[in-house]
Amino acid sequence: MQYYSLQDPQHKASFETAVIQGIAPDKGLYFPEQIPSLDPEFITHLHTYTDQEIGYEVIRPFIGDEIPEAALKKIVNDTLHFPFPIQKVTGHTYALELFHGPTLAFKDVGARFMAGCLGYFRRSSNRPVTVLVATSGDTGGAVASGFYNVPGVDVVILYPSKKVSTLQEKQLTTLGGNIRALEVQGTFDDCQRMVKSAFLDADIQSHRQLTSANSINVARWLPQMFYYFLAYKQMKAAHPRLVFAVPSGNFGNICAGMMAAAIGLPVSHFVAATNINDTVPRFMQNGQYEPGKAVPTLSNAMDVADPSNFVRVLQLFGNSLPALKEKFTAYAYTDKDTARTMEQVWKEHHYMLDPHGAVGYLGLQQFLAEAPELTGVFLETAHPVKFEDTAPKAVRDEIHTPPRVMSLYGKEKNATLLPADYDAFKNWLMR
Ligand SMILES: *Cc1c(COP(=O)(O)O)cnc(C)c1O
Repeated sequence: MQYYSLQDPQHKASFETAVIQGIAPDKGLYFPEQIPSLDPEFITHLHTYTDQEIGYEVIRPFIGDEIPEAALKKIVNDTLHFPFPIQKVTGHTYALELFHGPTLAFKDVGARFMAGCLGYFRRSSNRPVTVLVATSGDTGGAVASGFYNVPGVDVVILYPSKKVSTLQEKQLTTLGGNIRALEVQGTFDDCQRMVKSAFLDADIQSHRQLTSANSINVARWLPQMFYYFLAYKQMKAAHPRLVFAVPSGNFGNICAGMMAAAIGLPVSHFVAATNINDTVPRFMQNGQYEPGKAVPTLSNAMDVADPSNFVRVLQLFGNSLPALKEKFTAYAYTDKDTARTMEQVWKEHHYMLDPHGAVGYLGLQQFLAEAPELTGVFLETAHPVKFEDTAPKAVRDEIHTPPRVMSLYGKEKNATLLPADYDAFKNWLMR
């Protein structure tokens, strides 16, 4: 499969090049040249396949023969090695739990898949590649865990100081080895800007080979299609007409869901639910794309003012707002809404939401109120324990801590403090 840059459709690259570069030289995001279509028989019989078989069938056409069958199957198997259960919360509302992976967040899937691909492409190279990643919280932990000890790969993670949870910070800063953490005195958008500048900096590029592990990388973005197929597999028997509500920040996850629909998964509608960083909900209302400044919220992994992947969402609909509106709705919620929902859903349904899942739940309820004939699945993107620090008092003590994360709290943080300043970052990278 060839990929083209959304800045310049004439610029094309193989899957391998797209994975290694992360972003096209003209700063455009890579987009697949064709939208494959899956065999309808495969969709009809989805429930007869294992999760790993589904993952392989779904991703194969996006890679073509650039990774041989056996190697790709191994990458998919290593990625989908934990469960993705659906839980009924109430009425027509189901949670798709994506937090059963090593770092308790859905980003484990994209990060592990990308680590597998990069490891494969670098298998006979002797020049190490540096994965640069800006994180608003969860990406960093998932990337650190996914790439830990992958030979030939160094990882540098930038995170906004004091804007990630205690557990998230531990996940970023305690592995050591090939994983380095930079604590930036700024916001996630500052971190992302610094990373983007580094990719365009010829001095750095000649000093180290860089790649990105943000959701702009096709190897992180596309495997997120798996969730939607695995949800459909579990729901299909009883409820064929599905709406997915996705708590959205950088819009990679929901865009993968929409790609899943484009290649043949039957989905009636998508709801993007954001916190007050509501650039996309405002755009859907007035057609003006006006990113403000990122504002910190309870759902901090979605504190993104200028969501990179939204251009891909638009591309899927030929950049037509009316066409997009047929399939896609966006709502925004305040922290007050989020906290109230966490309390209420625990009290009434005994289901513990994390703040991101709560935003998704709210979006789903708002949409289902207008479309009661549909069945809704919201994506529960992180385990509530990751955000225990800021959970409303009424539920905080009810959050249980999975035993495997307990040991993290005792480990020592190891991070380099940097100002939100590109030159400081560049000096550090050029050492
Ligand atoms: C990253 C993240 C999101 C947002 O996903 P995007 O693909 O950036 O829209 C939502 N919830 C959690 C817990 C996350 O870590």
